[in-house]
Amino acid sequence: MTRPATRAGFVAIVGAPNAGKSTLVNALVGAKVSIVSPKVQTTRMRVIGITMTDLADGTRAQVVLVDTPGIFRVARRRLERAMVAAAWQGAEDADALALVVDAERGIGDETRAIAEKLKQSRVRRYLVLNKIDLVPREKLLGLTGELNALLPFEHTFMVSALKRDGVADVLAVLAAGLPAGPFLYPEDQAADLPMRLLAAEVTREQVFLQLHQELPYEATVETDKWEEGGDSSVRIEQTIHVQREGQRAIVLGRGGARIKQIGARARHELAHILERPVHLFLHVKVSERWAEDPAHYRTIGLDYEP
Ligand code: GDP
Ligand code: MG
Repeated sequence: MTRPATRAGFVAIVGAPNAGKSTLVNALVGAKVSIVSPKVQTTRMRVIGITMTDLADGTRAQVVLVDTPGIFRVARRRLERAMVAAAWQGAEDADALALVVDAERGIGDETRAIAEKLKQSRVRRYLVLNKIDLVPREKLLGLTGELNALLPFEHTFMVSALKRDGVADVLAVLAAGLPAGPFLYPEDQAADLPMRLLAAEVTREQVFLQLHQELPYEATVETDKWEEGGDSSVRIEQTIHVQREGQRAIVLGRGGARIKQIGARARHELAHILERPVHLFLHVKVSERWAEDPAHYRTIGLDYEP
């Protein structure tokens, strides 16, 4: 028996604030698994939704929708400039890029700036004119012409993310343009993966906040289990990976006091973000090779600087 062909890849969703990016991601994913973390991000790409789809030729595709945090920041200081540069690098690392434009608002400064910047990019790019429920057709055609003159796009979609009008077409075309290859995430995890990553990020932040003097960049967090409780609660199990035995002792703290504190803060934060009770279980593991494996970093959505 031959295995069915698969495609998979990252699609960066970019656009000015309020263009409808989150609404589009929710519509593409088909359920409310898209998450928007209120955190300041340090990662180059952040998974905000994963969607599986079957193409007309029988190929099954996994479209991983990512956000490139901070791409629009006005960078005055060096750190901010570094964050913006990292965000652009994230967009450059994606397999395709979708620029979402609010058709009612038209081309504002932000959209113009991003289009200008995208001229240098070699990533396959798509234009999504959103909120077509609010504008007459002539205006859409004019806008399409104007934007494609600024920068040619592989394909222009006209959608109403809110009404889910035209969204299926976006998914089909995005998926068909992805590279052939295995799925990036296990299919059975696809639905809650953005949540898992978010949860890992929250705990990683606590480890950093509470221990950055002792272990600056040396711990990473992985969500091993995400189980829905019978009530509205969720049970989350995570592993904090460190590189050396001594670091494990630091994370545990005297009599386990430190990890208790990390767990308590992370749990509190997660319950707040998820708006439901959270049971959080943390393990600490020495995984020496962890920090040397960029493939792993890419898979879990963390930044990796060689
Ligand atoms: P983001 O900042 O790019 O993520 O934008 P959001 O997805 O948060 O959307 C901004 C606002 O535009 C929200 O109030 C949405 O309900 C609204 N919106 C998004 N898509 C559409 C659409 O297709 N039609 C209309 N009328 N409103 C939309
Ligand atoms: Mg948003």
